[in-house]
Amino acid sequence: MKQTYAIVGLGRFGSSLLESLIDADQEVLVIDKNPTLVENYMDIATHAVIADAQDEDALRDLDLASFDHVVVAIGHNQQASILTTILLKDIGVRHVIAKAENNLHARVLDKVGADQVVRPENEMAHRLAEQLMTPNLLNFIDLGDKHSLGEIKIGNLRFANKTIEELDIRKNYGLNIIAIRSEDRVVITPEPDEIIQVGDVLTVAGETKDVKHFESLVA
Ligand code: ADP
Repeated sequence: MKQTYAIVGLGRFGSSLLESLIDADQEVLVIDKNPTLVENYMDIATHAVIADAQDEDALRDLDLASFDHVVVAIGHNQQASILTTILLKDIGVRHVIAKAENNLHARVLDKVGADQVVRPENEMAHRLAEQLMTPNLLNFIDLGDKHSLGEIKIGNLRFANKTIEELDIRKNYGLNIIAIRSEDRVVITPEPDEIIQVGDVLTVAGETKDVKHFESLVA
């Protein structure tokens, strides 16, 4: 079943989120107190409403409690962001995601009951820093408990034209190869005799420190 989303605030973050969800064919209600912005997004959003999110009656009239996810994308006006978050939780919204401008704002949003607090600039900056420092790590999923999945691109002849068995990646690097992908093939749970080539992307699972160590060797 399709999920339903509401976004409060059509600034840079709220409007980008709206576009991504609509691109993915989702239903999105947007709310902003600025009539010009609401008008601009009228044809894009499923519904667009002019309302002040600090008005509890307006939030109830919109039946926001029936939405699966409500995102408070108000940034600069921290008071409005905090009050809106409190009101949304009070009227029974299950999952409130709030955008924070800074650390203190994030702490307050957490204290007043936001189910998830996001800091897009910080999170993106952190990801970019990681990306710059680990250029061969194309994707990374933290599995918790110090383990992760990584997609690592082989750029080094030391690892190329050898079989998985010869490289003995499990013993030497503490990693399990889940898949190998190149332009013309995808091999899921490869056999030990599979040959690794320059340009192959290996999906590996293991301790995060081992995933990062291996990444540093393949450049
Ligand atoms: P960004 O940093 O993502 O651009 P902004 O804080 O600049 O975010 O934009 C937030 C949006 O939220 C603005 O369009 C503003 O009109 C809207 N907004 C602010 N306060 C309220 C409120 N009380 N009710 C509804 N919309 C609001």
